[in-house]
Amino acid sequence: MSPAGATPAPALALADAIRSGERRAVEVVEASLAAIAERDGELHCFNLVLADQARARAAEVDRMVAAGEDPGPLAGVPVALKDNLCTRGIDTTCSSRILAGWRPPYDATVVTRLARAGAVVVGKTNMDEFAMGSSTETSATGPTRNPHDTSRVPGGSSGGSAAAVAAGFAPLALGSDTGGSIRQPAALCGVVGMKPTYGTVSRYGLVAFASSLDQIGPFATTVADAAGTFDVIGGHDPADSTSLDRPTPRVLSVLDEGIAGLTVGVVRELLDGADADVVARIRAAAEVCAAAGARVEEVSVPEVALGLSAYYLIAPAEASSNLARYDGVRYGLRVEAPDAASMNVATRTAGFGAEVKRRIMLGTYALSAGYYDAYYGQALRVRTRIIEGFERAYRTCDVLLGPTSPTTAFPLGERLDDPLAMYLSDVCTIPSNLAGHPAISVPFGTGGDGLPVGAQLLAPALGESVLFRAAAVLEAGAPPAGDPGAVDPGAGGAVTGEGAR
Ligand code: GLN
Repeated sequence: MSPAGATPAPALALADAIRSGERRAVEVVEASLAAIAERDGELHCFNLVLADQARARAAEVDRMVAAGEDPGPLAGVPVALKDNLCTRGIDTTCSSRILAGWRPPYDATVVTRLARAGAVVVGKTNMDEFAMGSSTETSATGPTRNPHDTSRVPGGSSGGSAAAVAAGFAPLALGSDTGGSIRQPAALCGVVGMKPTYGTVSRYGLVAFASSLDQIGPFATTVADAAGTFDVIGGHDPADSTSLDRPTPRVLSVLDEGIAGLTVGVVRELLDGADADVVARIRAAAEVCAAAGARVEEVSVPEVALGLSAYYLIAPAEASSNLARYDGVRYGLRVEAPDAASMNVATRTAGFGAEVKRRIMLGTYALSAGYYDAYYGQALRVRTRIIEGFERAYRTCDVLLGPTSPTTAFPLGERLDDPLAMYLSDVCTIPSNLAGHPAISVPFGTGGDGLPVGAQLLAPALGESVLFRAAAVLEAGAPPAGDPGAVDPGAGGAVTGEGAR
């Protein structure tokens, strides 16, 4: 039993037991629904629980097993879907009033692939409205609470998915990561969360926020489960024009290859500004890599410090364009008014929350004539600099290491009225999105407050194999549950003081 609730059996082990007939999918799904019924009133991980559909689907999986057919590598595994992934005939709200009542006519490619692998969708999870936020507090359906401490946020924007896995509601979930929305909530909830290389997982059926940054990825309780899920959802999809038409790395099969002889670079600038106890954990994670035979060195990638400011021009610019489609005509909410233009204004005024409106205004301003080159154009040049900075680091390093989040889970309400403080939550995760590179957050002990810390590994484009190998090493060497983790900077050792505030 973890402090967050029941620790679910890892997904791949469950699937094996179901495929061999040792366990029945209907029982597994019933246990998941019972856990949700017991505690989701308190946590609010779900916008919608699909109990009937999940039971029917689990029965179908059991029928296949009984008939000697193989339902697939995720047979009978309960999975939670972020509510910005399209599900045919099922409400998909992005936790926004403007999509109330909208039911997509098709499934996202990742949803189809999970179904083909035998997984059982148990519900749609809460999120920051249109994935804009770092705490799941901008949701129109109210915040999700962190299962480890319900006075704290679960992170965001995929906070419902992260908390659902941490609470033991489902062993797997999917989220989307535009600037850190999988990795940051994974870190704050003490689970594994991974953002794939841009283009390796289809975005078809993911409601767009910032199309050049958005990627879908898994949440799991183990690195192997995240790897198995990536293997299922990854791969070329002709329905997504940005999908890479080349082989996607297969990762589950390489997990135990270790990292002996590889070079791990600890990124100095990712430690800057992180809390001292978080920094201490990352230094300990580096020692785990060294003990596994890797060469560990400190590297400087000064460009990553520019990530946040570039992101807050590029992401809102793309969002202002993507969200123009919510006009009261094609989707969800319509507020009636005497003519089309005023209907449009009334619908958007009532339908969008404050953070979404802030992003639309920021983005529209950045793209407007006269400012375009000074803001958007400049941000694109910075983006190129960040890619070059990483390229330099990867000349000597195979993977990079740093914190996922500068702090552990913060109290509900603490940053909601301070957008800049909220935006800073993603300072360590945003550079990978701008570069299009893969990254993963692995639970690595707790901070001085007893709350989870995530160690983040970064790799070059299509470097998923080495990324997952290093993640497996960190997982195996992570401090045991209950390890005090409190840091006494006076005691010397791991803390260098660099990250201390
Ligand atoms: N927190 C960041 C933002 O608000 C990233 C969100 C995300 O990755 N979807 O934009």
